Amino acid sequence: MRILVTGGAGFIGSHLCEALLAQEHEVLCLDNLFSGLKRNIVPFLGNPEFEFIRHDITQPILLEVDQIYNLACPASPVHYQYNPVKTVKTNVMGTIHMLGMAKRVKARILQASTSEVYGDPQVHPQSEQYWGNVNPVGPRSCYDEGKRVAETLMMDYHRQNQVDVRIARIFNTYGPRMSERDGRVVSNFIVQALRREPLTVYGNGRQTRSFCYISDMISGLQKLMNTEGLHTPINLGNSAEFTILELAELVRELTGKHSEIVFKPLPKDDPVRRRPDISEARRRLNWEPKILLREGLARTIDYFEQVLQTTGLEGSVPKTGSSGVVT
Ligand code: NAD
Ligand code: UDP
Repeated sequence: MRILVTGGAGFIGSHLCEALLAQEHEVLCLDNLFSGLKRNIVPFLGNPEFEFIRHDITQPILLEVDQIYNLACPASPVHYQYNPVKTVKTNVMGTIHMLGMAKRVKARILQASTSEVYGDPQVHPQSEQYWGNVNPVGPRSCYDEGKRVAETLMMDYHRQNQVDVRIARIFNTYGPRMSERDGRVVSNFIVQALRREPLTVYGNGRQTRSFCYISDMISGLQKLMNTEGLHTPINLGNSAEFTILELAELVRELTGKHSEIVFKPLPKDDPVRRRPDISEARRRLNWEPKILLREGLARTIDYFEQVLQTTGLEGSVPKTGSSGVVT
């Protein structure tokens, strides 16, 4: 098949491109390189089945493809809050453009949605039936509400125009090829530990997240895309839940570095608890994550050790301030 991956130079997108190329598909990788990295796709450039298109999905584009994975959107709070209006445009106008393409060429389209559609959840763990608790006017809203509109658009194009849609609600995913300047917690802690800097825990560190290793996420996304008739949202994530303090301690142990832990203000609207209920993914996709956090972190640490050897140990990771503003 000819498959379009928007956001293909990003963390998840580049792993998806690699998997699709290994399965001998033709891959069109579309990215504006806002938070993605050329180094993520350089290894594929010699492959005749791979094509990179530098383009912004907020602008229309005509392509002929069989499937579309719509992943284009900054995922780190630091990046999506940098230009919130642009984040909304990417999720709304970008998704409309990709749905228009899917409708025109009768391609199947998968939207990368997020656990953020549940906001600061009052139901735990979060199942697909829960409608969420989202602040519509806060610093995270450009992303949370943007993704909620993207889901709405997917379902409306499906009901109104019979577009063959899939919606993946992705929970915190980590692994090699995250940028050292990404700003999300796993990359921040690893990079800080390797640089022997203090690990910055926001709030008291008792908030929880459930971390899914990248290879598990890629298999989940592909299973969802290739399962017939599954149009409603499906949670994809690892249901093992950790506090941020537990994550910090595990990173210290696995890196063998004894960085101190410093506490910084909690960003506004930071969700207190998050864990996916993945019964639907188990039942409908026969999918569940295999990689334990300890193992996935070890692989990710190996990656960042190599990156920091090349790029140097100097610098600091981006941080989100208590107002939600990037510092
Ligand atoms: P990422 O920032 O590494 O990748 C996003 C990619 O999209 C980047 O390469 C960026 O340059 C590109 N992009 C952004 N805006 C664009 C635009 N307007 N036009 C073209 N390209 C654009 O993030 P990621 O972790 O790989 O996330 C990929 C997708 O998965 C995103 O849609 C994100 O919302 C979703 N997601 C990720 C996670 C996670 O934990 N990684 C969790 C939930 C949802
Ligand atoms: N976090 C932290 N230190 C950091 C970066 C993030 O303690 O250097 C916290 C953040 O406040 C949140 C959790 O880690 O509670 C996950 O943050 P991330 O930005 O990775 O993702 P999200 O909040 O979108 O789940």
